Amino acid sequence: MFTKLNFELNQYGYSCKCKDVYFCKCKKQSMNYEKIFSQNKEEKIKGRYITLEDIEPLLKKLNTGNQLQIIGKSVLENPIYSYQIGTGKTKILLWSQMHGNESTTTKALIDFLNFLNSPSELAHQFLEFFTFYSIPMLNPDGAKLYTRENVNKVDLNRDSQNLTQPESIILRNIYEEFKPDYCYNLHDQRTIFGVADTGKPATVSFLSPSYNEERAINGNRTKAINIIVRMNEVLQQYIPGQVGRFDDGFNINCIGDTFQSMGTPTILFEAGHFQGDYEREETRKFIFFALLSGFIAIYENVIVNNEIVDYMNIPQNNPNFFDFVYKNVKINYDSSELITNFAAQYKEELINNKIFFNAFIVKIGDLVDNFGHIEYDADGKIYSDSNQNIPNLNQKADFYLGKKIEIVNGLIKL
Ligand SMILES: [Zn+2]
Repeated sequence: MFTKLNFELNQYGYSCKCKDVYFCKCKKQSMNYEKIFSQNKEEKIKGRYITLEDIEPLLKKLNTGNQLQIIGKSVLENPIYSYQIGTGKTKILLWSQMHGNESTTTKALIDFLNFLNSPSELAHQFLEFFTFYSIPMLNPDGAKLYTRENVNKVDLNRDSQNLTQPESIILRNIYEEFKPDYCYNLHDQRTIFGVADTGKPATVSFLSPSYNEERAINGNRTKAINIIVRMNEVLQQYIPGQVGRFDDGFNINCIGDTFQSMGTPTILFEAGHFQGDYEREETRKFIFFALLSGFIAIYENVIVNNEIVDYMNIPQNNPNFFDFVYKNVKINYDSSELITNFAAQYKEELINNKIFFNAFIVKIGDLVDNFGHIEYDADGKIYSDSNQNIPNLNQKADFYLGKKIEIVNGLIKL
Protein backbone atom coordinates (compact mmCIF):
# COMPACT_ATOMS: atom_id res chain seq x y z
CA MET A 1 0.00 0.00 0.00
CA PHE A 2 1.10 3.59 0.39
CA THR A 3 4.09 3.83 2.60
CA LYS A 4 6.16 6.93 2.73
CA LEU A 5 9.16 7.13 5.00
CA ASN A 6 9.47 10.87 4.81
CA PHE A 7 7.71 11.66 8.09
CA GLU A 8 8.39 14.33 10.64
CA LEU A 9 7.16 14.57 14.18
CA ASN A 10 4.97 17.57 14.90
CA GLN A 11 2.15 18.48 17.29
CA TYR A 12 -0.26 16.12 15.53
CA GLY A 13 2.03 13.12 15.62
CA TYR A 14 3.85 12.10 12.49
CA SER A 15 3.14 14.03 9.33
CA CYS A 16 4.46 13.55 5.89
CA LYS A 17 6.93 16.24 4.89
CA CYS A 18 6.04 16.05 1.23
CA LYS A 19 3.12 18.02 -0.12
CA ASP A 20 0.71 15.17 -0.69
CA VAL A 21 -0.80 13.40 2.22
CA TYR A 22 -0.14 9.71 2.46
CA PHE A 23 -0.83 7.37 5.30
CA CYS A 24 1.66 4.87 6.48
CA LYS A 25 1.27 1.36 7.76
CA CYS A 26 3.00 2.12 11.03
CA LYS A 27 0.82 2.49 14.08
CA LYS A 28 1.45 6.21 14.60
CA GLN A 29 -1.12 8.54 13.11
CA SER A 30 0.48 10.13 10.13
CA MET A 31 -2.46 12.23 9.01
CA ASN A 32 -2.68 15.94 9.51
CA TYR A 33 -6.43 16.01 10.02
CA GLU A 34 -6.55 19.69 10.95
CA LYS A 35 -4.84 20.69 7.74
CA ILE A 36 -7.01 18.50 5.52
CA PHE A 37 -10.11 19.90 7.19
CA SER A 38 -9.08 23.53 6.81
CA GLN A 39 -8.23 22.95 3.16
CA ASN A 40 -11.65 21.47 2.44
CA LYS A 41 -14.02 23.24 4.82
CA GLU A 42 -16.90 24.78 2.90
CA GLU A 43 -16.90 28.37 4.14
CA LYS A 44 -20.25 29.20 2.55
CA ILE A 45 -22.20 27.21 5.14
CA LYS A 46 -22.01 27.67 8.87
CA GLY A 47 -24.18 27.61 11.97
CA ARG A 48 -27.22 25.50 12.68
CA TYR A 49 -29.80 26.57 10.13
CA ILE A 50 -28.82 24.76 6.93
CA THR A 51 -31.49 24.50 4.25
CA LEU A 52 -31.71 23.20 0.70
CA GLU A 53 -31.06 26.71 -0.64
CA ASP A 54 -27.75 26.69 1.22
CA ILE A 55 -26.45 23.39 -0.12
CA GLU A 56 -27.99 23.35 -3.62
CA PRO A 57 -25.43 25.76 -5.17
CA LEU A 58 -22.57 23.91 -3.46
CA LEU A 59 -23.69 20.57 -4.82
CA LYS A 60 -24.14 22.08 -8.27
CA LYS A 61 -20.63 23.48 -8.13
CA LEU A 62 -19.33 19.99 -7.32
CA ASN A 63 -21.35 18.50 -10.17
CA THR A 64 -18.44 18.32 -12.58
CA GLY A 65 -19.25 14.93 -14.05
CA ASN A 66 -22.90 14.13 -13.52
CA GLN A 67 -22.42 13.10 -9.89
CA LEU A 68 -25.54 14.99 -8.81
CA GLN A 69 -29.00 13.52 -9.31
CA ILE A 70 -32.49 14.29 -8.10
CA ILE A 71 -33.68 10.99 -6.65
CA GLY A 72 -37.15 12.12 -5.65
CA LYS A 73 -39.25 14.82 -4.04
CA SER A 74 -40.17 15.58 -0.47
CA VAL A 75 -43.78 16.00 0.70
CA LEU A 76 -43.57 19.68 -0.31
CA GLU A 77 -42.03 18.66 -3.64
CA ASN A 78 -38.57 19.86 -2.83
CA PRO A 79 -35.82 17.93 -4.63
CA ILE A 80 -33.90 15.30 -2.72
CA TYR A 81 -30.40 15.09 -4.12
CA SER A 82 -27.86 12.36 -4.28
CA TYR A 83 -24.21 12.91 -4.97
CA GLN A 84 -22.32 9.84 -6.15
CA ILE A 85 -18.58 9.77 -6.64
CA GLY A 86 -15.85 7.13 -6.93
CA THR A 87 -15.45 3.95 -8.93
CA GLY A 88 -14.30 1.52 -6.27
CA LYS A 89 -15.95 -1.69 -5.29
CA THR A 90 -16.51 -0.84 -1.63
CA LYS A 91 -19.84 0.96 -1.59
CA ILE A 92 -20.73 3.49 1.08
CA LEU A 93 -24.21 4.95 1.48
CA LEU A 94 -24.37 8.11 3.61
CA TRP A 95 -27.41 10.22 4.38
CA SER A 96 -27.68 13.33 6.49
CA GLN A 97 -30.41 15.60 7.83
CA MET A 98 -33.03 12.87 7.92
CA HIS A 99 -33.93 14.99 10.95
CA GLY A 100 -34.37 18.49 9.58
CA ASN A 101 -32.80 20.41 12.45
CA GLU A 102 -29.69 18.21 12.58
CA SER A 103 -27.36 20.00 10.21
CA THR A 104 -23.86 19.46 11.61
CA THR A 105 -23.23 16.25 9.72
CA THR A 106 -24.51 17.88 6.53
CA LYS A 107 -21.81 20.53 6.88
CA ALA A 108 -19.16 17.85 7.48
CA LEU A 109 -20.45 15.78 4.58
CA ILE A 110 -20.15 18.74 2.20
CA ASP A 111 -16.62 19.32 3.53
CA PHE A 112 -15.91 15.67 2.82
CA LEU A 113 -17.28 15.95 -0.73
CA ASN A 114 -14.97 18.94 -1.21
CA PHE A 115 -12.11 16.75 -0.05
CA LEU A 116 -13.06 13.99 -2.51
CA ASN A 117 -13.02 16.59 -5.27
CA SER A 118 -9.64 17.97 -4.21
CA PRO A 119 -6.33 17.11 -5.90
CA SER A 120 -5.12 15.25 -2.79
CA GLU A 121 -3.50 11.89 -3.38
CA LEU A 122 -5.54 10.38 -0.56
CA ALA A 123 -8.79 11.54 -2.16
CA HIS A 124 -7.61 9.91 -5.37
CA GLN A 125 -6.96 6.63 -3.55
CA PHE A 126 -10.39 6.84 -1.94
CA LEU A 127 -12.12 7.32 -5.28
CA GLU A 128 -10.44 4.22 -6.67
CA PHE A 129 -11.26 2.12 -3.65
CA PHE A 130 -14.76 3.35 -2.75
CA THR A 131 -17.98 4.38 -4.40
CA PHE A 132 -19.64 6.99 -2.20
CA TYR A 133 -23.37 7.52 -2.57
CA SER A 134 -24.46 10.43 -0.41
CA ILE A 135 -27.83 12.02 0.28
CA PRO A 136 -26.86 15.29 1.96
CA MET A 137 -30.37 16.35 2.95
CA LEU A 138 -33.01 13.63 3.12
CA ASN A 139 -35.57 15.91 4.81
CA PRO A 140 -35.44 19.32 3.08
CA ASP A 141 -38.90 20.31 4.35
CA GLY A 142 -37.92 19.69 7.97
CA ALA A 143 -34.64 21.52 7.35
CA LYS A 144 -36.55 24.60 6.21
CA LEU A 145 -38.93 24.42 9.20
CA TYR A 146 -36.04 23.56 11.55
CA THR A 147 -37.93 20.52 12.85
CA ARG A 148 -36.80 17.00 13.57
CA GLU A 149 -39.81 15.58 11.69
CA ASN A 150 -40.82 16.05 8.08
CA VAL A 151 -43.66 18.44 7.18
CA ASN A 152 -46.26 15.76 7.99
CA LYS A 153 -44.81 15.66 11.52
CA VAL A 154 -43.49 12.15 10.98
CA ASP A 155 -40.13 11.19 12.45
CA LEU A 156 -38.47 9.58 9.43
CA ASN A 157 -36.24 7.63 11.77
CA ARG A 158 -39.32 5.80 13.09
CA ASP A 159 -40.76 5.14 9.64
CA SER A 160 -38.34 2.61 8.25
CA GLN A 161 -40.80 -0.29 8.41
CA ASN A 162 -44.08 1.42 7.57
CA LEU A 163 -42.52 3.65 4.90
CA THR A 164 -45.45 6.08 5.02
CA GLN A 165 -43.47 9.11 3.79
CA PRO A 166 -41.91 9.79 0.38
CA GLU A 167 -38.55 10.56 2.01
CA SER A 168 -38.51 7.13 3.72
CA ILE A 169 -39.41 5.37 0.47
CA ILE A 170 -36.64 7.19 -1.42
CA LEU A 171 -34.00 6.11 1.09
CA ARG A 172 -35.22 2.52 1.04
CA ASN A 173 -35.25 2.39 -2.76
CA ILE A 174 -31.73 3.78 -2.96
CA TYR A 175 -30.55 1.26 -0.37
CA GLU A 176 -32.03 -1.60 -2.39
CA GLU A 177 -30.64 -0.37 -5.71
CA PHE A 178 -27.19 0.67 -4.51
CA LYS A 179 -26.62 -2.36 -2.23
CA PRO A 180 -24.10 -0.63 0.05
CA ASP A 181 -21.33 -2.41 1.92
CA TYR A 182 -21.67 0.13 4.73
CA CYS A 183 -24.37 2.61 5.76
CA TYR A 184 -23.58 5.91 7.46
CA ASN A 185 -26.59 7.31 9.32
CA LEU A 186 -25.67 10.92 10.14
CA HIS A 187 -27.38 12.85 12.93
CA ASP A 188 -27.06 15.54 15.62
CA GLN A 189 -27.84 15.00 19.29
CA ARG A 190 -29.01 17.54 21.86
CA THR A 191 -26.73 19.26 24.36
CA ILE A 192 -28.22 17.12 27.16
CA PHE A 193 -25.86 14.23 26.46
CA GLY A 194 -22.71 13.73 28.48
CA VAL A 195 -20.16 10.93 28.42
CA ALA A 196 -21.31 8.59 31.23
CA ASP A 197 -20.90 10.45 34.55
CA THR A 198 -17.57 12.07 33.69
CA GLY A 199 -18.95 15.61 33.44
CA LYS A 200 -17.73 15.89 29.85
CA PRO A 201 -20.11 16.57 26.97
CA ALA A 202 -20.66 13.87 24.34
CA THR A 203 -19.22 15.85 21.45
CA VAL A 204 -19.45 12.87 19.12
CA SER A 205 -21.35 9.67 19.78
CA PHE A 206 -21.46 6.47 17.78
CA LEU A 207 -23.51 3.34 17.62
CA SER A 208 -23.38 0.10 15.77
CA PRO A 209 -27.15 -0.49 16.00
CA SER A 210 -28.66 -3.75 17.11
CA TYR A 211 -30.29 -6.07 14.60
CA ASN A 212 -32.36 -7.99 17.17
CA GLU A 213 -33.95 -7.64 20.61
CA GLU A 214 -31.10 -9.56 22.22
CA ARG A 215 -28.62 -6.92 20.98
CA ALA A 216 -26.47 -9.77 19.72
CA ILE A 217 -23.21 -8.94 17.98
CA ASN A 218 -22.85 -10.64 14.62
CA GLY A 219 -20.30 -10.22 11.83
CA ASN A 220 -21.95 -7.16 10.34
CA ARG A 221 -22.30 -5.40 13.64
CA THR A 222 -18.65 -6.18 14.30
CA LYS A 223 -17.66 -4.59 11.00
CA ALA A 224 -19.34 -1.36 12.07
CA ILE A 225 -17.79 -1.68 15.55
CA ASN A 226 -14.29 -1.98 14.04
CA ILE A 227 -14.72 1.32 12.23
CA ILE A 228 -16.12 3.05 15.32
CA VAL A 229 -13.14 1.88 17.35
CA ARG A 230 -10.72 3.38 14.83
CA MET A 231 -12.66 6.65 14.62
CA ASN A 232 -12.70 6.83 18.40
CA GLU A 233 -8.94 6.30 18.58
CA VAL A 234 -8.38 9.30 16.33
CA LEU A 235 -10.98 11.51 18.01
CA GLN A 236 -9.51 10.82 21.46
CA GLN A 237 -6.40 12.71 20.32
CA TYR A 238 -8.49 15.84 19.78
CA ILE A 239 -11.39 15.55 22.22
CA PRO A 240 -10.18 13.22 24.98
CA GLY A 241 -13.07 11.77 26.94
CA GLN A 242 -15.70 13.41 24.76
CA VAL A 243 -16.80 10.45 22.65
CA GLY A 244 -19.85 8.49 23.75
CA ARG A 245 -21.53 5.25 22.80
CA PHE A 246 -25.21 5.59 21.99
CA ASP A 247 -27.84 3.32 23.52
CA ASP A 248 -28.24 0.10 21.49
CA GLY A 249 -31.82 -0.75 22.49
CA PHE A 250 -33.40 -2.40 19.46
CA ASN A 251 -36.14 -0.61 17.52
CA ILE A 252 -36.80 -1.99 14.07
CA ASN A 253 -38.61 1.24 13.12
CA CYS A 254 -35.26 3.05 13.28
CA ILE A 255 -33.42 3.10 10.02
CA GLY A 256 -30.06 1.94 11.41
CA ASP A 257 -31.62 -1.09 13.10
CA THR A 258 -33.49 -1.89 9.89
CA PHE A 259 -30.44 -1.73 7.62
CA GLN A 260 -28.34 -3.62 10.13
CA SER A 261 -31.03 -6.32 10.28
CA MET A 262 -31.10 -6.39 6.47
CA GLY A 263 -27.42 -7.34 6.59
CA THR A 264 -25.52 -4.08 6.06
CA PRO A 265 -23.00 -2.86 8.64
CA THR A 266 -24.40 0.49 9.73
CA ILE A 267 -22.92 3.27 11.81
CA LEU A 268 -24.92 5.93 13.61
CA PHE A 269 -23.13 9.26 14.02
CA GLU A 270 -24.40 11.77 16.55
CA ALA A 271 -22.82 15.22 16.42
CA GLY A 272 -23.09 16.74 19.88
CA HIS A 273 -21.96 19.63 22.02
CA PHE A 274 -18.41 20.92 22.26
CA GLN A 275 -17.62 23.51 24.95
CA GLY A 276 -19.13 26.87 23.94
CA ASP A 277 -19.82 25.71 20.38
CA TYR A 278 -23.57 26.13 19.94
CA GLU A 279 -23.04 26.76 16.22
CA ARG A 280 -21.40 23.33 16.05
CA GLU A 281 -18.52 24.48 13.93
CA GLU A 282 -15.98 22.66 16.11
CA THR A 283 -18.10 19.53 16.18
CA ARG A 284 -18.37 19.75 12.39
CA LYS A 285 -14.59 19.39 12.26
CA PHE A 286 -14.61 16.34 14.50
CA ILE A 287 -17.27 14.69 12.35
CA PHE A 288 -15.04 15.32 9.35
CA PHE A 289 -12.13 13.72 11.22
CA ALA A 290 -14.34 10.75 12.01
CA LEU A 291 -15.44 10.31 8.39
CA LEU A 292 -11.88 10.50 7.16
CA SER A 293 -10.42 8.17 9.79
CA GLY A 294 -13.23 5.64 9.40
CA PHE A 295 -12.71 5.41 5.64
CA ILE A 296 -8.97 5.07 6.17
CA ALA A 297 -9.74 2.18 8.52
CA ILE A 298 -11.82 0.44 5.86
CA TYR A 299 -9.22 1.17 3.21
CA GLU A 300 -6.32 -0.10 5.27
CA ASN A 301 -8.34 -3.09 6.44
CA VAL A 302 -6.40 -3.16 9.66
CA ILE A 303 -7.42 -6.10 11.79
CA VAL A 304 -7.34 -5.26 15.45
CA ASN A 305 -7.97 -7.85 18.08
CA ASN A 306 -10.03 -6.47 20.89
CA GLU A 307 -12.43 -4.32 18.88
CA ILE A 308 -15.55 -5.34 20.76
CA VAL A 309 -13.86 -4.79 24.12
CA ASP A 310 -12.55 -1.42 22.91
CA TYR A 311 -16.02 -0.54 21.65
CA MET A 312 -17.66 -1.49 24.93
CA ASN A 313 -15.04 0.61 26.70
CA ILE A 314 -16.34 3.74 24.98
CA PRO A 315 -18.50 5.15 27.78
CA GLN A 316 -22.23 5.31 27.21
CA ASN A 317 -24.14 8.48 26.49
CA ASN A 318 -25.94 9.84 29.52
CA PRO A 319 -28.61 12.57 29.35
CA ASN A 320 -27.22 14.33 32.43
CA PHE A 321 -26.39 17.80 31.07
CA PHE A 322 -28.23 21.09 30.99
CA ASP A 323 -27.07 24.21 29.23
CA PHE A 324 -27.07 26.10 32.57
CA VAL A 325 -26.94 24.97 36.17
CA TYR A 326 -27.30 27.46 39.05
CA LYS A 327 -26.27 26.17 42.45
CA ASN A 328 -26.73 27.40 46.02
CA VAL A 329 -29.42 29.92 45.21
CA LYS A 330 -31.35 31.35 48.13
CA ILE A 331 -35.10 31.70 47.66
CA ASN A 332 -37.93 32.89 49.85
CA TYR A 333 -40.56 30.19 49.97
CA ASP A 334 -43.62 30.37 52.25
CA SER A 335 -41.90 33.10 54.27
CA SER A 336 -38.85 30.99 54.94
CA GLU A 337 -35.50 31.10 53.22
CA LEU A 338 -34.02 28.00 51.65
CA ILE A 339 -31.15 27.12 49.34
CA THR A 340 -31.89 25.38 46.08
CA ASN A 341 -30.41 24.61 42.67
CA PHE A 342 -32.03 24.88 39.29
CA ALA A 343 -31.23 24.35 35.63
CA ALA A 344 -32.06 26.08 32.36
CA GLN A 345 -32.01 24.75 28.86
CA TYR A 346 -31.99 26.49 25.52
CA LYS A 347 -34.94 26.12 23.21
CA GLU A 348 -33.87 26.59 19.60
CA GLU A 349 -36.46 28.78 17.94
CA LEU A 350 -36.65 29.68 14.26
CA ILE A 351 -37.69 33.31 13.89
CA ASN A 352 -37.38 35.16 10.57
CA ASN A 353 -35.00 32.61 9.12
CA LYS A 354 -32.69 32.73 12.11
CA ILE A 355 -32.22 30.31 14.99
CA PHE A 356 -32.49 31.90 18.42
CA PHE A 357 -31.31 30.14 21.54
CA ASN A 358 -33.78 31.05 24.27
CA ALA A 359 -33.10 29.76 27.78
CA PHE A 360 -35.93 28.44 29.97
CA ILE A 361 -35.91 26.98 33.48
CA VAL A 362 -36.47 23.24 33.14
CA LYS A 363 -35.58 21.63 36.47
CA ILE A 364 -35.49 22.72 40.10
CA GLY A 365 -34.06 20.55 42.87
CA ASP A 366 -30.88 18.88 44.04
CA LEU A 367 -29.34 18.22 40.56
CA VAL A 368 -26.69 16.00 42.16
CA ASP A 369 -26.35 13.82 39.08
CA ASN A 370 -26.41 16.71 36.62
CA PHE A 371 -23.88 18.97 35.00
CA GLY A 372 -24.18 22.33 33.29
CA HIS A 373 -22.30 23.38 30.20
CA ILE A 374 -22.19 26.61 32.17
CA GLU A 375 -22.45 26.39 35.95
CA TYR A 376 -22.83 29.28 38.37
CA ASP A 377 -22.40 29.01 42.10
CA ALA A 378 -24.64 31.70 43.57
CA ASP A 379 -23.03 31.16 46.97
CA GLY A 380 -26.30 31.81 48.79
CA LYS A 381 -27.27 34.95 46.94
CA ILE A 382 -30.97 35.68 46.92
CA TYR A 383 -33.02 34.99 43.80
CA SER A 384 -35.41 37.60 42.44
CA ASP A 385 -37.23 38.17 39.18
CA SER A 386 -40.03 40.28 37.73
CA ASN A 387 -42.71 37.70 38.66
CA GLN A 388 -43.05 35.81 41.93
CA ASN A 389 -39.39 35.87 43.00
CA ILE A 390 -39.08 32.11 42.83
CA PRO A 391 -37.86 30.09 39.86
CA ASN A 392 -40.72 28.36 38.04
CA LEU A 393 -40.57 25.68 35.39
CA ASN A 394 -40.86 26.90 31.79
CA GLN A 395 -40.20 30.51 32.64
CA LYS A 396 -37.48 32.41 30.80
CA ALA A 397 -34.11 32.33 32.50
CA ASP A 398 -34.11 36.08 33.27
CA PHE A 399 -33.52 36.88 36.93
CA TYR A 400 -31.23 38.43 39.53
CA LEU A 401 -28.85 36.84 42.02
CA GLY A 402 -28.40 39.25 44.87
CA LYS A 403 -28.58 42.90 44.01
CA LYS A 404 -25.74 43.07 41.53
CA ILE A 405 -25.86 40.02 39.27
CA GLU A 406 -28.38 40.09 36.46
CA ILE A 407 -28.96 36.92 34.44
CA VAL A 408 -30.38 37.46 30.97
CA ASN A 409 -31.29 34.50 28.80
CA GLY A 410 -29.31 32.19 31.06
CA LEU A 411 -26.08 34.20 31.09
CA ILE A 412 -24.64 36.78 33.47
CA LYS A 413 -25.11 40.20 31.98
CA LEU A 414 -21.79 41.96 32.06
ZN1 LIG B 1 -31.43 12.52 14.48
